[in-house]
Amino acid sequence: MNKTFYKPNIIISKCLNFDNCRFNGDMINDNFLKKLWDFVNYIPVCPEVAIWLGTPRMPLRLVNVDNETRLLQPSSKSDLTDEMDYFSETFLKTQKEIDWFIMKNRSPSCGIKDVKVYDKVDSYSINNKYSSWIFGNKLYEMFPNIPTEDEWRLKNFRLREEFLSKIFCLAEFREINKTKKISDLSDFQAKNKYLFMFYSPSIQVLLWQIVASYNKENSNEIYNYYFKELIKLFNTKTNIWKMVNTLTHIFWYFKDTCSIEEKQFFLETIGVYREWRIPTSSVMSILKTWALRDKKEYILIQTILNPFPKDLVELIDSWRILEL
Ligand code: SF4
Repeated sequence: MNKTFYKPNIIISKCLNFDNCRFNGDMINDNFLKKLWDFVNYIPVCPEVAIWLGTPRMPLRLVNVDNETRLLQPSSKSDLTDEMDYFSETFLKTQKEIDWFIMKNRSPSCGIKDVKVYDKVDSYSINNKYSSWIFGNKLYEMFPNIPTEDEWRLKNFRLREEFLSKIFCLAEFREINKTKKISDLSDFQAKNKYLFMFYSPSIQVLLWQIVASYNKENSNEIYNYYFKELIKLFNTKTNIWKMVNTLTHIFWYFKDTCSIEEKQFFLETIGVYREWRIPTSSVMSILKTWALRDKKEYILIQTILNPFPKDLVELIDSWRILEL
């Protein structure tokens, strides 16, 4: 069954594969983000170049000045806070239909968290404060419901896998959000049932209730409410047990059609999976094969079995093996 994947729109720090715009004239080569080029719409931005600092340039840092965090350039003692603030607001105001932000880890301008704040412009002592600032803060302020990620966290294969599932799901939601139809929303909810269960069974149920309360007069309100809860769901922490629970729920669809040996094989595979010795897709393949054999349409449409384009599945799995 061929599935259409909508391209997620992602704002990304420009120094991640796009331009040699780091303060020292470097660019960061990130293979994973590069592989996504054909599958997403990237919108690269370098806030420091955008405020005319040029490349190469002397580095910037966040400094505590009279209990206020400011963006300073130690070499010139310039305070660039207002310029960065103005740029961030102006740039972000022009952005529409964004699904995700990927920002450079720990950058004083792009960082979304864990950015060091120094005590003084010319000292190395840290103000015991880690923060996001200016551009990062503006993202949170102007796009409170749009998820953010830094490239460093995406080096973890599990986070990468979840990230991919989420961005393609959100891109599809953005499309159906344009129609505001109940049929689109209920189809979306139905096919994401097990993906949502993996994140949070309780929010998954709440999403069904939101769909059930739809009527033509409240379609805008319902879509907005649904989206907020969807983001809340995707922000829920996951673990291997949650995935095992979800896979086991799907497994029960085949309790009457599988032989004792097949059931035994599945349970053994789940045991190996629990120890992270095989990827999630190996377990999914078994369930998918049974769903095809038994013509279980409701299972075949589930996004959890096919959450992102196949070419990325290979990439994820091969990296996973390398990391084990
Ligand atoms: S981290 Fe942000 S400001 Fe710094 S070089 Fe990269 S894109 Fe530019």
